[in-house]
Amino acid sequence: AIQATIQRHEQTLATFHHLNCSLRDEDYTPPNSPNCSELGKRAPTPIREKEVTLCMKCQEPFNSITKRRHHCKACGQVVCGKCSEFRARLLYDNNRANRVCIDCYTTLKQASVAAENSVLCSFLHHMEKGAGRGWQKAWFVIPENEPLVLYIYGAPQDVKAQRSVPLIGFEVSLPDSCDRLERRFAFKISQSHLTLYFSADGEELQRRWIEVLSRAGRGEELQAHGSITEALEEEGEETATSGENT
Ligand SMILES: [Zn+2]
Ligand SMILES: [Zn+2]
Repeated sequence: AIQATIQRHEQTLATFHHLNCSLRDEDYTPPNSPNCSELGKRAPTPIREKEVTLCMKCQEPFNSITKRRHHCKACGQVVCGKCSEFRARLLYDNNRANRVCIDCYTTLKQASVAAENSVLCSFLHHMEKGAGRGWQKAWFVIPENEPLVLYIYGAPQDVKAQRSVPLIGFEVSLPDSCDRLERRFAFKISQSHLTLYFSADGEELQRRWIEVLSRAGRGEELQAHGSITEALEEEGEETATSGENT
């Protein structure tokens, strides 16, 4: 029965989720709670639940017996049991399963589906040389079925990419000091007049992207490495076999 409910919810939410997401960022999220792209990566700021009299999802009034308050561990909203009968693994809690609301469940699930179908995907900051815009955060995917193209999405749950970059011919390198980048773990890809800068959240992620982008730039089809989490778990194995590439 739960499975059926989830599916029904997902069908309904799939259409409206993007809208929900932007609304939630502006109006409904408690201060300092994670936005869509940070969901599950850090703990939400708890709302004082006594101040909340209605479930923040279904709007039904709470009472102490049949309609009790629960916190969504991803967005921090105070919701009823029925609106939070879902569990999702949250990065900030060592990937342990936590109670989350239906919206967060959908968002997180879509992100993990994306990870399963990609050679590599993650958030990165990016900036185009000479475009006059500063660093922007986006969700980057190299799909398994199109391993030579980099897709840039606003968020993991977005259906349409903002931009796609065919990678063949691009050179991957670390930024020069004259690039004057202010972010750590940066790297760049360039081809004729186009240079794109990227900045990862950590050294391991930077290394994975450089490796995958370099191979795609040479036109080599890549083997799927799955999500970053898997990549990190495979680390020992990777190091053992990396000799043959050099
Ligand atoms: Zn509810
Ligand atoms: Zn939530």
